[in-house]
Amino acid sequence: MIKVFNPADGSVVGVAPEMTSAEVQAAIDRTCQAFPAWSRTLAKTRGDLLRRWFELMRDDKRLFAEIIVKENGKCISEAMGEIDYGLGFIEWYAEEAKRVYGDTIPSHAANAQVLVFKEPAGPTAAITPWNFPFMMIARKIATALAAGCTMIIKPAELTPLTAYKMLEYARKAGIPEGVFEMVTGNPARIGELFTGDPRIRKISFTGSTAVGKMLAAASGHDLKKMTLELGGNAPFIVFDDAGIEQAAAGLVAAKLRNSGQVCISPNRIYVQDGIHDRLVAAVAEKVAGIRVDQGLQEEFVVGPLINQAGLDKVAGLVEDAREHGAQVVLGGKPHAKGGLFYEPTILTGLTDDMRIARTEIFGPVFPFYRFKTEEEVVARANRSEYGLVAYAYTRDHARSFRLSRDIEAGMVILNSGSVGTASVPFGGVKHSGYGREGSHYGIEEYVEVKYVLMAGLDA
Ligand code: NAD
Repeated sequence: MIKVFNPADGSVVGVAPEMTSAEVQAAIDRTCQAFPAWSRTLAKTRGDLLRRWFELMRDDKRLFAEIIVKENGKCISEAMGEIDYGLGFIEWYAEEAKRVYGDTIPSHAANAQVLVFKEPAGPTAAITPWNFPFMMIARKIATALAAGCTMIIKPAELTPLTAYKMLEYARKAGIPEGVFEMVTGNPARIGELFTGDPRIRKISFTGSTAVGKMLAAASGHDLKKMTLELGGNAPFIVFDDAGIEQAAAGLVAAKLRNSGQVCISPNRIYVQDGIHDRLVAAVAEKVAGIRVDQGLQEEFVVGPLINQAGLDKVAGLVEDAREHGAQVVLGGKPHAKGGLFYEPTILTGLTDDMRIARTEIFGPVFPFYRFKTEEEVVARANRSEYGLVAYAYTRDHARSFRLSRDIEAGMVILNSGSVGTASVPFGGVKHSGYGREGSHYGIEEYVEVKYVLMAGLDA
């Protein structure tokens, strides 16, 4: 059995099965065997099952939120927000199942018709991280099932309790065995079984770039389709003409979400010289008013980091920046509560050659960098192997357009700190991965395009 710990106090909050290879293989077999019938199930029926699942979980939102708080550490209001976000995908794709339209194309040949079918890609597999235990699974399963694919999922071993509760509710809703399977155990071994099975036609992975690259390489053998949502190093750029209050509020909300353990968390905050000190002061005032605590209360609090490795990483990056000349405006050390809590931290005077500038922090740290010109900051923002999201605050529309065009990222967010919802395409470029989740683009990742030429119609 895999023990699941509460990061707020180290207590054991549940267990998940540690499956053998044979058990995982049996679940893969069920996923593959269920595909032909599921792919031929009416789109409306598939959508209705997803809708039913959505309704059952919506009615028990609080139950799910409490499980998330216990195994992930985020506070209850954030957990409720995550569930709404995740449910949004199930609702969206329950409707979208009916809209996977093919095409007809004017024929290039006489007495012929050209058709384009969109067919489900096949049995699929997914691997998800611990930072959004509900939403990540909802987003992947809903898209796959709507497209007519079956899916086997391996949730993060740190947060499997939410996942198994979702499976239980899926069964209650009538989503059958095989169509949605779940396995937990040794991640590397399960990854090998997924990538090594030629019947699995697509893998969707959200997690670190290192693991994503390994899975992509292993899947190359069978040329599986892949969606890779990997690491980020998001620039958050504030120009002199931005509204200070608006930018500070957007930054604090985006940064402290899940204690900074989010792939789209602002990771490099570039502020133009003329506004720098005032923005830092506005952010510091907001952050100083936020409590650090365990999450089972209604007020927004900054929770613990997920584990000791996460805490050590954040502490090490802050220490390194300090040694290389950064100033600590707020925080800068593990919280007096002990355990896995880290103080929300504001650092200024950072330079691009510091380790913190090149590393995904995954903690409640605001690293401030100064810049002078637009040209300079765009070049610095793009000087990263990652390209998931970029944020910018400016009131200049022409500049907004130039930034949207020139920044190398899958998503550019202007004058807001909020990114995701079911109706938009989420995903990155460069080492942040490829493929999109959400919107009509998301479902395209689960279909194959088949061109059919019907010639000889003059007979
Ligand atoms: P991780 O890569 O260690 O783990 C993610 C998942 O992969 C987990 O389920 C884990 O058990 C599994 N895994 C680990 N080793 C594996 C292996 N050898 N074979 C198969 N599966 C394996 O990442 P993490 O630390 O849990 O998550 C944080 C990372 O995820 C960060 O880099 C973050 O940016 C990224 N992330 C990206 C997005 C996005 O949408 N782009 C969203 C959330 C998190």
